[in-house]
Amino acid sequence: MGLLALGTPLPWNEAKQYADHVRYHGITQFLHTWNRLKDRQGDELLWGDEIEYMVVVLEDAAKSARLSLRQTEILDRLSRIVDDISSECPKSISVPTFHPEYGRYMLESTPGSPYTGSIPDILSVEANMRYRRNLARKHLKSNEVPLTLTSFPLLGVPGQFTEPYYDPIGAISSHSLFLPQEITNPHARFPTLTANIRQRRGSKVAINLPLFVDAKTPRPFVDPAIPWDRDIYPEDSDAKNGAALADHIYLDAMGFGMGCCCLQLTFQACNIDEARRMYDALIPISPILLALTAASPVWRGYLADVDCRWNVIAGSVDDRTEEERGLKPLRNSRFRIPKSRYDSVSLYISSDWKNRPDYNDIYTPYDEAIFKRLKDDGVDSLLAKHISHLFIRDPLVVFTETIDQDDTSSTDHFENIQSTNWQTIRFKPPPANSPIGWRVEFRSMEVQMTDFENAAFAVFVVLLTRAILSFHLNFYIPISKVDENMARAQLRGASALGKFYFRKNVHTQDSSGPSSGSTSPVNGNGSHPVKEKKLRNCFPAPPRPENGINHEPVDSEYEEMSMKEIMTGKGKSFPGLLGLVSEYLDTLDIPTDELRKINAYLDFIRLRSTGQLQTPASWIRDFVRSHPDYKQDSVVSQAISYDLLVAVDEIERGVRSAPSLLPKKYRGGQSDQGSIGI
Ligand code: ADP
Ligand code: MG
Ligand code: MG
Ligand code: MG
Ligand code: MG
Ligand code: MG
Repeated sequence: MGLLALGTPLPWNEAKQYADHVRYHGITQFLHTWNRLKDRQGDELLWGDEIEYMVVVLEDAAKSARLSLRQTEILDRLSRIVDDISSECPKSISVPTFHPEYGRYMLESTPGSPYTGSIPDILSVEANMRYRRNLARKHLKSNEVPLTLTSFPLLGVPGQFTEPYYDPIGAISSHSLFLPQEITNPHARFPTLTANIRQRRGSKVAINLPLFVDAKTPRPFVDPAIPWDRDIYPEDSDAKNGAALADHIYLDAMGFGMGCCCLQLTFQACNIDEARRMYDALIPISPILLALTAASPVWRGYLADVDCRWNVIAGSVDDRTEEERGLKPLRNSRFRIPKSRYDSVSLYISSDWKNRPDYNDIYTPYDEAIFKRLKDDGVDSLLAKHISHLFIRDPLVVFTETIDQDDTSSTDHFENIQSTNWQTIRFKPPPANSPIGWRVEFRSMEVQMTDFENAAFAVFVVLLTRAILSFHLNFYIPISKVDENMARAQLRGASALGKFYFRKNVHTQDSSGPSSGSTSPVNGNGSHPVKEKKLRNCFPAPPRPENGINHEPVDSEYEEMSMKEIMTGKGKSFPGLLGLVSEYLDTLDIPTDELRKINAYLDFIRLRSTGQLQTPASWIRDFVRSHPDYKQDSVVSQAISYDLLVAVDEIERGVRSAPSLLPKKYRGGQSDQGSIGI
């Protein structure tokens, strides 16, 4: 969750007075980075994952599964043992790091040092993830398990869903009807973020997920779990005054969204241009992988008609005022803002000629004074627009101790705005005082229940980024269509049943013809391709074709495709994302045995994309619906939730099989052989 500086955070009415100060100095800090590092070249491929866990207390006698609120103690313990474990940590795995997250039941882990592009590193990802999970497991209580669940099924149900129990009436930051104050990480940043979002917005956040209506669901469904008549906080009457919709699951606090877990990947690029090309190419991929990793069909004890977390988080941190949301004419606010600060990317930013202006086709407000300042300092229009768009937002948490910073050596003010723009892809400039280069973060995926799956997606995405860069792939479609795909990706069964807009011809047009089907990278002097031994950075983009570009009309460049078509190909010209990755693998010199291991991950992803294996969301939905305690009324009871979470834990450990979810050979996370025996 960005920085965790210690300090005294200001309440909203004081913090907002520093908004221009933070923005001004944030831009100064960015410009220092830009001027220092815009020409930086030659950074190698370094990359890494972030995995988030929920610590769940399983009590077998009571058949209860609750969220453990021991994050602080657990993290203390994990950081204390880090020194001790350096010796016991396998050589191939650097000592991992664990980080706090929004939920007091959450942990985040990252590899201790980033992976490189070497094949052994690529193949160490799963072992690395597994080592981290098992390390956490080892330092939890015997009845606690670290589960990689995207959403906790019973978060916010009446009664006890945390260990220990706390009453939501004490929720002084969120004023939630459902979530207690103690659900939130106690570090001052998090309660302040929660309260300041509510105060800036002028009301509690309000999310209404469509309910999955089953055979015996009462209609209209008026949720008996909502304390309709509670009267503690001024917003308590919101629910009955229209905030809570019939036939929906109403969620009213930041914790419902920021309390979700996800899988994120960060890639370092060779230079800023390569980072911008990678960023753009991943934008249309983000909804596709959201749909393919869908894992969150249960919310506040009900089956939802959606499979993903995305809109919940977007709504859960939506700090826009009524004026910004377009509900009232602009008077005190400066912009009408179409999206939450947590939402899909609104602008392509590459200066590559493939990025036609027509693709940036949605209204994207930006701060004109900031835009001008950036331009005056030599930043090009596309990047200046990106930054000045991020900077329409106010800083939400301002610490008294760090208001005045040395803008030449700090990027804190820049990061304050940057790291609270939670978009599908993040363009990460180099941090101050660090050897790190320009990076791109892929943020849309839901975390998978097993590290085998998480590793498969990490390996797939890193290979896809190499295919993108080495073949100069062109995935551009209008941003409005990417947004439409984001909406579709979250619908129930989207991966198996849905259609998504996707580009028909992904090969870059070059001067030799309208579409170069050739995907073999050629070495410097244009002779035979040399097979590489590792994944690398630094693929210069082809120059703009000399004899002009014959652009087709934008709308004929894309069409609707199924997940299977997007992943495995359609017609002669589009080999699918998996096909492109295979073509990229053909350019590498990889020992057969290692190639077989990589292909085991890709095979799994293929089976998921064709529907031969289920998404976690479909699997969870089926588990609930076929449970003996399920009454076909959309309700996920404590007993169902307990059995579900026990099953998830057992599947992860390889004690229970799940043939509709995982490949037949899957052996589980505790096997030394690797989880599918590869
Ligand atoms: P965030 O700010 O998104 O929370 P984290 O620090 O939690 O980021 O995780 C970033 C990921 O990037 C980790 O997996 C880490 O291993 C990886 N990483 C670290 N250094 C680099 C680098 N130079 N290039 C790319 N990735 C890196
Ligand atoms: Mg995180
Ligand atoms: Mg992180
Ligand atoms: Mg983070
Ligand atoms: Mg971080
Ligand atoms: Mg991250």
